[in-house]
Amino acid sequence: MSANNPRRRLATELAAAAAAYQVAAVIPHCAECSKPCCRLDVLVLELEWKQIKTLWQLGESRPAFDRRLAAGQGPEEIRAGNGLYYAHSKPCPAYDQSCGACRVYDQEAKPVGCTDFPVYEDDGCVIADLRCEAVNLDALTAWIARAVGPAYRVIKSADAEFPFLVTLTVKRVAGKG
Ligand code: SF4
Ligand code: SF4
Repeated sequence: MSANNPRRRLATELAAAAAAYQVAAVIPHCAECSKPCCRLDVLVLELEWKQIKTLWQLGESRPAFDRRLAAGQGPEEIRAGNGLYYAHSKPCPAYDQSCGACRVYDQEAKPVGCTDFPVYEDDGCVIADLRCEAVNLDALTAWIARAVGPAYRVIKSADAEFPFLVTLTVKRVAGKG
């Protein structure tokens, strides 16, 4: 798909708007958050082997680690599946609880899901995860509307199974733009 493709251009604008919202409204709140996502008591972290190895400071090979996990002797918060690893129910080892900061911020070891959470672009829409207390859905909707301009309107819809996941779809307004 060409970079000049209007759908691609819109998706790029939405991704930039979502990232800017995170910088303006979410990240400043993280240090005082009452339910930090990095504790992984709600969120599940999806990781590749290199990230698991780095974050959990593993010295063994991947097969040896997999055998340990399968034998129930691995870190109890990690599950393996689909060639990936999933961590849940214990704070992420990169989380500095004393100041609410990520020790691998801007590093390769930081999973992409952390960067995306709680607001990100996906397939030409913006997804907002309302489990993050810093997300204000009305403010985010207005933010996205400003970013794409009056030629578009923003439509909100909550996921039927996971209603805390809200999709913001932008539709061109007939006769505008
Ligand atoms: S839940 Fe939201 S505000 Fe809290 S630490 Fe995570 S991103 Fe920051
Ligand atoms: S890698 Fe960083 S941002 Fe991601 S869960 Fe761990 S501490 Fe949080």
